[in-house]
Amino acid sequence: MRIIVAGAGIGGLRAAALLGKGRADVTVYERADSASDMRYPWHDDVSPSAFTDSGLELPKDSFIKKDWSFVAPDGSGIRRMHEEESKADYSVWRTRLNAELVEYAEKYCAVRFGKNVTALTSDNGRVTGVVVDGREEKADLVIDSTGLDSPLKQGAKSITRHSADEVFVVYRAFYEKNFEAPEAEHSNKAYLKHMGESGIAWAIQDGELVDVLVGRLGEMSDETLKRALSVLKRENPTIGEKTVMGGGIYRIPVRYPATRMVSDGYAAIGDAAYMTIPMLGSGIASSMAAAKMLSDVVAEALDAGKSASEAASSENLWKYQRRFFTEIGANHCGVDVMKRGVLSFPDDMLGWLLTSSVLTNADVCSLAKGNPIYIGFGEALKKVRTAGIGKIPALLKVNSMLTRSHRAIRLARRIPERYSAEAIARWEKKLRRIIAGE
Ligand SMILES: Cc1cc2nc3c(=O)[nH]c(=O)nc-3n(C[C@H](O)[C@H](O)[C@H](O)COP(=O)(O)OP(=O)(O)OC[C@H]3O[C@@H](n4cnc5c(N)ncnc54)[C@H](O)[C@@H]3O)c2cc1C
Repeated sequence: MRIIVAGAGIGGLRAAALLGKGRADVTVYERADSASDMRYPWHDDVSPSAFTDSGLELPKDSFIKKDWSFVAPDGSGIRRMHEEESKADYSVWRTRLNAELVEYAEKYCAVRFGKNVTALTSDNGRVTGVVVDGREEKADLVIDSTGLDSPLKQGAKSITRHSADEVFVVYRAFYEKNFEAPEAEHSNKAYLKHMGESGIAWAIQDGELVDVLVGRLGEMSDETLKRALSVLKRENPTIGEKTVMGGGIYRIPVRYPATRMVSDGYAAIGDAAYMTIPMLGSGIASSMAAAKMLSDVVAEALDAGKSASEAASSENLWKYQRRFFTEIGANHCGVDVMKRGVLSFPDDMLGWLLTSSVLTNADVCSLAKGNPIYIGFGEALKKVRTAGIGKIPALLKVNSMLTRSHRAIRLARRIPERYSAEAIARWEKKLRRIIAGE
């Protein structure tokens, strides 16, 4: 079987290694010139289970992040969180992670750098390969790992595309620390609905640096960024003048996973299939888990004596999408509902929810990891007692959001068993309605 992985994204590299192990002839085409130029120069948070589940070592110099402080939108309060060490994420250097994933993949397949994949080739609706540096390359299966703005999707039959408001536009930079300023009271400070706008910001004390992020949903004008940075610097005087790493504008998907991520001869993975938890990230862990699901589905078909073309058919690849939705993606649908709900809450209500005892620390930790919470009737009554009668309308709003979130999770798990255009259309229409609150 011949497989082309377009883009050395996290999931693509992992799938390339797994499928290349004696199963298929795999080539990865990556636009960047080398592993160190590939993705982000900084460190990002990943659950250590992403590595243990893949049988990989946590990259060297990864470190744990346990404390978070969340600031209410109107600045009225702050909530400190302390994650148990066993549950905390590790911050992993991306260049190390890239290098290790590439090194591992190269044991089992070819990784070609400096190669720009511009389009898919197809015949009668079936993907037959890619155009790379202007030349056609044939494959039984193309794995699209080119990230959020995949140039390939338009060439595959009916693959989900995002809308502008499903993208988080982010400025991320690591500044030199201003040691003349007093030590910061909060080591990892995150602002929800920063300045009352649809977005977040953070200032994280990171040794001799301060990690700064400003993000807005949909778009972020230069003016918004300038204003947000100036407020952030005023409130966090340890942020120095000079940028040491990053400093660009990046784009992250913040929508539930693609309801159509496969087609004949094509499978999207990672950000190309929106596998991040809306507003909460974890795209690295999800992509690594998805790679295992995709390679298992292809390997199982080949082991059962199916041809390469059957193994790469939409009917077979649908099993990959189904596994992803039932094991991981359904929760992301629930979180998408919560993202929309939280962004629609008035600032004072969100501030109260965050800082009062209505949500426990365990609730907030769970939410921050993308695990939707459920508040039962008895517990809701207790919360009314804690909050007071005047807060009943706000609690009802929260309850309705949580109920819808759970409906979305249940429906997402009822993803059609088999690939059928009609059944998929019915399922995704219902799911879209629940998530969008129509
Ligand atoms: C500021 C920021 C902070 C983040 N923080 C976290 C975090 O803390 N934890 C976490 O898990 N995730 C985080 N993420 C998200 C994470 O980076 C992604 O979810 C993850 O990398 C999976 O994306 P991907 O590998 O599918 O795509 P990408 O990371 O976009 O990789 C795509 C690859 O394809 C290559 N490529 C693109 N187009 C072409 C082409 N035409 N031809 C050939 N090659 C091509 C690119 O060069 C790149 O190497 C963050 C992202 C950003 C921007």
